[in-house]
Amino acid sequence: MLTDPGYKFCPKCGASFSLRRLKDFEPERLVCPDCKFVMYLNPKVASGAVVEHKGGIVLLRREIDPRAGFWVHPGGFVDRGETLEQAAIRETREEVGLDIEILGLLGAFSFQDSEVVVVTYAARALGGEPTVGDESLEVRTFDPAGIPWDQLAFPSTRLALNAYLSRLNPRPASLDRLDALEDARAVALAAKDVRAGSVVYPQLIEVLRRARRYREALDAAEEGLALTHDPLIARLADEVAHEMAQADQDRC
Ligand SMILES: [Zn+2]
Repeated sequence: MLTDPGYKFCPKCGASFSLRRLKDFEPERLVCPDCKFVMYLNPKVASGAVVEHKGGIVLLRREIDPRAGFWVHPGGFVDRGETLEQAAIRETREEVGLDIEILGLLGAFSFQDSEVVVVTYAARALGGEPTVGDESLEVRTFDPAGIPWDQLAFPSTRLALNAYLSRLNPRPASLDRLDALEDARAVALAAKDVRAGSVVYPQLIEVLRRARRYREALDAAEEGLALTHDPLIARLADEVAHEMAQADQDRC
């Protein structure tokens, strides 16, 4: 939970606050004994945008705390009288120098240990080049595959980027096929059904290797071999192991 924000005096009349529970099941409130003003500690609202620019995603490295030096999408606190969308557009202009068009809502992210609710939109740049603006050390356009996941500023940054990427790549049909094969594999394995296994495992290995999920393909091959002793699966296992080694080499 959040710690005490340290407010001591009523902002309306200057008297000292006292802590009172006004309703059962609600937290204690800061109440002014003189003018009866209640200071409700509601969340602050921030609005931001995951911006597409030339096929990449625009992120900035924060210059100030919290989380100085870490990457985040443009965004900031919403002013009263401003809509969430206007705030996202304004902050993006201030922080990375881009005019954007809002495409849709990615999500609203809230956490028990944070006083900020972050609302994030998917957007695209209308033109121009990203420039380093207010409160940023660096601005860069990242290829989706190159997002610095271990150097993101906030949990909401990760959630927003994940939401953006799943919007870009809705679940492919091949994953449904994979699920079906995994189910068939579980049934064959549980029943120790060698014939069903001989049908399911080669297909499963093929789907996994096409997705370059070699480690899982190899595990499936080894499991299939133990069940069926099928020479086709043995051959597939060899091929997958070879591809795995090749992929490792390419990475070095
Ligand atoms: Zn007061």
